[in-house]
Amino acid sequence: MNHSEAAEKFTEDVDRTTWHDKTLWFVREKRDKAVFQIPEWEALREAASRIKHNALSNLDEYLLEFEQNAVKNGVKVHWAADGHEHNEIVLQILKETGATQMVKSKSMLTEECHLNEFLLEKGVDVVDTDLGERVVQLANEPPSHIVMPCIHWKKEEIGELFHEHLGTEKGASDPKYLAEAARQHLREKFMTRRAALTGVNFAVAETGGFVVCTNEGNADMGAHLADVHIASMGIEKIIPKARHLGVFLRLLARSATGQPVTTYSSHFHRPRKGQTMHIIIVDNGRTTQLGRPDFRNSLKCIRCGACMNTCPVYRRSGGHSYHNAVAGPIGSILAPNLDMRKNADLPFASTLCGSCSNVCPVKIDIHDQLYKWRQVLTAEGYVDSAKKQGMKLMASVLSNPKLYRFSGKAGRTMMRFAPFSVSNPLNPWYKQREMPEPPKESFREWYVNREKK
Ligand code: SF4
Repeated sequence: MNHSEAAEKFTEDVDRTTWHDKTLWFVREKRDKAVFQIPEWEALREAASRIKHNALSNLDEYLLEFEQNAVKNGVKVHWAADGHEHNEIVLQILKETGATQMVKSKSMLTEECHLNEFLLEKGVDVVDTDLGERVVQLANEPPSHIVMPCIHWKKEEIGELFHEHLGTEKGASDPKYLAEAARQHLREKFMTRRAALTGVNFAVAETGGFVVCTNEGNADMGAHLADVHIASMGIEKIIPKARHLGVFLRLLARSATGQPVTTYSSHFHRPRKGQTMHIIIVDNGRTTQLGRPDFRNSLKCIRCGACMNTCPVYRRSGGHSYHNAVAGPIGSILAPNLDMRKNADLPFASTLCGSCSNVCPVKIDIHDQLYKWRQVLTAEGYVDSAKKQGMKLMASVLSNPKLYRFSGKAGRTMMRFAPFSVSNPLNPWYKQREMPEPPKESFREWYVNREKK
């Protein structure tokens, strides 16, 4: 299904669409309150954007500096050109350790690489330990939001799911009760797994260390108890200095959930005694995006999710309608880079209102890039021909004043004397809207007549 078909399916459940919209808007408002408490917010955004600009412009040097320092700290560093290589490296590490089970904290990169499916096929049992991720994993579906993976689930549905998989009481929907059940279930997994995988929010070139941000402490629990800690990071996670962390940590939590800081911002530098630590640095299309001048800024993303929470299309169509690991406005910029044909519909899933660019903590020009992708995809022939012909027709009408005036008149006459030609169920635009009363004259006619009077 393309985005509009999947969105249509999502919106069939009117209740779900309404609270999905409201819940995300509530998070957006929390973000606003947190942001307005910081007078230097705009200066922080500017600093973050520039630091990332510097990092992306000198990626080769910073990545090598990071590798050198990490190796000095006793960490094993691996490089993966794509998702498959990343998955093979993880499997190899697990084989060397003799581990057939692994706990994993939230990592959108592993979603992008389809690590869980790959490991499952190879006989490795992976347990996602972020509560929302565990919910979607038990339901056998991907996350729908990068910060709140099961935001599309009602608590009653989670109660049913937990009853089926964790043996909780039937009909239970108290969030405290359900969270406690998940905590007990996950504790057993933490205690028995010898391998843990975490994502990386920021990797510091200067120290070779990295930071993982969670609100549940699950990354720490997994990494601290396991014999092997694997950290997977995209090449764009690098920042030059430790002192830059303060800028990003202040921006990230406020933009994501309106918190002043993420509950756990854990700094990892070296393996503890007796433990092995691996870092896998993954490209998977990022250098291609870096080579596209119009889109390279998208690599500044710190995955806060603010652009999703504010997007009127995302809020009303749900994350799964984007059929990509990262959904929403930023996902619609990243996805065509990976596969233009498969993801050609995504840059069109936007009103181009610019709200995403306004809230982005690293000042990515998101809506401009969506607009630019539309042009690229059309030029490359990935846009459906009906849309292309429609746009051509519109362009010829809009660029010819006589034709424009004639079409306006014809449209108004048609709406007055044959309204069913527009207001009928075959017109998708009409399905959820009331068509306006046609005015007697156009603005131009009114203006000319007014001058005469
Ligand atoms: S593009 Fe900006 S707003 Fe969207 S997730 Fe990334 S950092 Fe956050």
